[in-house]
Amino acid sequence: MTQDSELFTIPARRGRAARLSQGQSIQIVNTHGAQVVDTWAFSTEDPREFMSMEHIRPTLTRIFPHAGDDLVSNRRRPILHFAEDTSPGVHDTLMAACDDYRYGLLGCTEYHDNCTDNLFAALRNVGFPVTECPSPLNLWMNIPVDGAGGTTWGVPASKPGDHVVLRAEMDCVVAMSCCPQDILPINGEARAPTEAHYRILG
Ligand SMILES: [Zn+2]
Repeated sequence: MTQDSELFTIPARRGRAARLSQGQSIQIVNTHGAQVVDTWAFSTEDPREFMSMEHIRPTLTRIFPHAGDDLVSNRRRPILHFAEDTSPGVHDTLMAACDDYRYGLLGCTEYHDNCTDNLFAALRNVGFPVTECPSPLNLWMNIPVDGAGGTTWGVPASKPGDHVVLRAEMDCVVAMSCCPQDILPINGEARAPTEAHYRILG
């Protein structure tokens, strides 16, 4: 893998998407260390096939994926391979992407940036529009689950510069959103969403 390919910014509170050919990888960097990046993958051939958290969990018999795992689609075949992770490996598969309704429930009375709209905008920008938002792989989102199945909103366990590498197992479009959540502490106690970065490898 080359490390000298161009580094792209995912601006704070915004989304970006990239097309990958089978065998290429995407490196996603938690530049400032406490930013959750919602991540999706869609088959280039048929956007009705996408990375599916509901299908990943029974395939892995775990609710949290680790480096070395295949991440499957809703047709139960690998779409991405989780090749590398320099962070402590705390990521979430349980929580839906945030949306304007979510922020309404949290008390916002005006439009709030959100991962669902970021997904749609990012995919439109690469000429790959979709109309539904699958559950994302929430990179670095820390949702501890207790023995009774209760969940809490943790702060990320990652540090600045941590990265993951996801390898395309089929031609696919990967979308990422720097989650604009600034009410709950999922992007750190400061509740201050930041940018992140990515590059295409191979
Ligand atoms: Zn979000």
